Amino acid sequence: MRAFNAVGGTPRFFRSGAGAWLTDADGNEYVDLVLSWGPLLLGHAHPEVQAAVQAAVARGTSFGAPTEPEVELAEEITARTPVERVRFVSSGTEATMSAIRLARGFTGRDVVVKFAGCYHGHVDALLASAGSGLATFAVPGTPGVPASSTELTIVLPYHDRAAVTAAFAEHGDRIACLVTEAAPGNMGVIEPEPGFNRFLAETCAAHGALFVSDEVMTGFRAARQGQWGRDGALEGWAPDLMTFGKVMGGGFPAAAFGGRADVMALLAPEGPVYQAGTLSGNPVATTAGLTTLRLATDEVYEHVGAAAQTVKDAASQALDAAGVPHVVSSAGTMFSIFLLDPAELATGAVRDFADASRTDARAYAALFHSMLDQGVYLPPSAYEAWFLSAAHDDRAVQAVVDALPAAARAAARVHEG
Ligand code: PLP
Repeated sequence: MRAFNAVGGTPRFFRSGAGAWLTDADGNEYVDLVLSWGPLLLGHAHPEVQAAVQAAVARGTSFGAPTEPEVELAEEITARTPVERVRFVSSGTEATMSAIRLARGFTGRDVVVKFAGCYHGHVDALLASAGSGLATFAVPGTPGVPASSTELTIVLPYHDRAAVTAAFAEHGDRIACLVTEAAPGNMGVIEPEPGFNRFLAETCAAHGALFVSDEVMTGFRAARQGQWGRDGALEGWAPDLMTFGKVMGGGFPAAAFGGRADVMALLAPEGPVYQAGTLSGNPVATTAGLTTLRLATDEVYEHVGAAAQTVKDAASQALDAAGVPHVVSSAGTMFSIFLLDPAELATGAVRDFADASRTDARAYAALFHSMLDQGVYLPPSAYEAWFLSAAHDDRAVQAVVDALPAAARAAARVHEG
């Protein structure tokens, strides 16, 4: 994505970031709506995070042994989510890879169910495309992944309850877990329909499989308690395992998985399921994450949500004025803008990967480049979330709003052909 293949052109090389702003190698400034693909909830170079990190570096960068910030960050995560125990790793990929291994070890089963369009990092078993029919096993989604790595993966359409029911009816006693993004953010943002995640949790429970909720993107970002705070906490259920990354690392390589104490007890060294990492729970990374989460108060989420609303409204108005059909799709403070005609969607909302794939990627590329030329850095792909931060003040938000009408007109010229 950072190569700009999806939008064309030459990627900007950045020299520095401060608050909502990025400066490229040529000295041009941009309002940043990528925020390192989500982690920077407080913006770039937050002074308190910087100071805490600098102090941590001065104390030594890695010990390969437990430290205080690691424990405090785990406490912060267990306080905001239903997970009872936490294991640190260094990337979201490792978190989902390890959660799946643990689910397989716990259940003694091998099959994993995922949804088309959900991304869980570059885990071989999850870089899978749907097979030839529903409830059939997947094929590798990329060269380099052997068929044997995906032959135990089932890929289903998101939101398709009947497909989930059918897959569990046919393979239920072989399914170790179902893994889903808590709210998809990697096919553009899609809000799970009310009760959908609960349905997944209940279906897993009915078949003795584990429900793994991937909150690497949504965790501490969609809302204070992540997407779970927007459905599970209100509806009274919890995933068996959850994965986290991005915001909880505060811009450093820290990620985690956690969940039910009886499941986590199977992890080595307490249990037999092997998992380890030289830099896991690194004191600099966990200090950055801990400081970020402690500063991520309700007010921060209110501010980010309000700033996101202003940008969404302005984008929608600009696209309407330019005559570009579109759908604004949000999950908490995260959102995407799909350039497609809502009349062509069954419900008017983007519900799955097939819907998302209707977005006009060429028109998005025109929108993206116009925004870039006007000093706004959007995600360089039509299928990514737009992020705001606590540092997006009136000046930064206004710069985005001001750039949108011309960008919408650029999109309209391409959209009209
Ligand atoms: N899971 C989700 C939902 C993600 O969005 C990502 C990355 O974008 C990952 C997992 C993988 O995380 P990482 O890039 O840290 O390996």
